[in-house]
Amino acid sequence: MLTNLFLLSLLLQSTLAAEIDRRSSEVQPKVVAWRRDIHQNPELGNREVRTSKLVADHLQRLGLEVKTGVAHTGVVGILRGSRPGPVVALRADMDALPVTEQVDLPFASKAKAQYNGQEVGVMHACGHDTHTAILMGVAEVLAGLKDRLPGTVKFIFQPAEEGVPAGEDGGAKMMVAEGVLENPKVDAIFGLHVMSFANAGRIAYRPGGTMASSDMLRITVKGRQTHGALPWNGVDPIVAASQIVMGLQTVSSRQLDATKSPAVITIGMIRGGNRYNIIPDEVVMEGTLRTFDPEMQDEMHRRIKITAESIAQASGAEAKVEITSYAPVTFNNPTLTDRMLPTLKRVAGDSNVTLANPTTTAEDFAFYQRNVPGFYFFLGSVPAGMDAATAPANHSPLFNVDESVLPLGVRVLANIAVDYLSRQ
Ligand SMILES: [Zn+2]
Ligand SMILES: [Zn+2]
Repeated sequence: MLTNLFLLSLLLQSTLAAEIDRRSSEVQPKVVAWRRDIHQNPELGNREVRTSKLVADHLQRLGLEVKTGVAHTGVVGILRGSRPGPVVALRADMDALPVTEQVDLPFASKAKAQYNGQEVGVMHACGHDTHTAILMGVAEVLAGLKDRLPGTVKFIFQPAEEGVPAGEDGGAKMMVAEGVLENPKVDAIFGLHVMSFANAGRIAYRPGGTMASSDMLRITVKGRQTHGALPWNGVDPIVAASQIVMGLQTVSSRQLDATKSPAVITIGMIRGGNRYNIIPDEVVMEGTLRTFDPEMQDEMHRRIKITAESIAQASGAEAKVEITSYAPVTFNNPTLTDRMLPTLKRVAGDSNVTLANPTTTAEDFAFYQRNVPGFYFFLGSVPAGMDAATAPANHSPLFNVDESVLPLGVRVLANIAVDYLSRQ
């Protein structure tokens, strides 16, 4: 009896998968049109007004429960299947970058905007136009299967993944704070990113730490101003700051467990003083911190603070350490990753699914994964025949996505949602 039930559920699942494929190809012309429209009309983080209206109107037409204005311009759509079951969330980011497009496309962006007080070109140079169009397509496919869905799908269209202008809040962190993972409570979340490191058709994934945590470090070293010829009459923050820069390199090389995860500490800015013979009052340094292990991240923060403060203290100066987190580690829940791997392989073909190397870039999807199990993976985006090793990378003005990733993206996300809900 049990075996029969099992076989029956497998049969239902495979007919459902065939139905997803059929509906995915039906929706493709629309997905391509949405993607080109969004590409031609890119908007910077927290400014995705036109894009979020396009998304919200579409979700409303599909009959979803739609919430707008989440974390400024975010949109959340809820699709309740007719059968009871868990809640799965799918996330797409909608923001573009301050980059002037150089790709020769009929729908290339000519948009301009103000950014940090300057006029800049605006371009979907990270491919978030494709993510948004893919998820709109998935919403249409799954809305058509509502009667057969065993659970609920939450569609999260997120603003400002690339960060926000100074002084603003936003992105995944703000969406989580505004309760996007509650009501109904999300059991698992999935997301994808188009990437220039592989050709279109390929999928790369990694269990555990996949993209690095990214923190901004600011250290203010306070001394006491004096004549450059009489250093003993003051406290020199330039010498203390120099010692701190060197000391911080021993945090990653001598203090943190190198077998656990790599850790990068970079000081990218030092500012202090205004004349050759004056020792200034203060030096400010800024840098970035990256690692792949959440515990390591905490440990790195603790050690940086002790190292900077103690070095400053030794010369009578004072160091104030401030660490602002852009994103935690993009950590793929290993059990969930294992569970969804057969779906990736079935949809993309066994040999097209490969293990990704960790990357020291960061992604704010990590904020969702801190609260619920999540799985984030990569779709190769480089056109066939072009060498991925030399193709323009994400964020380049020449970044170009092969549109064959659109049908693959729709099929893979729709299948992941249905397989997750069906195999509870
Ligand atoms: Zn990006
Ligand atoms: Zn991106």
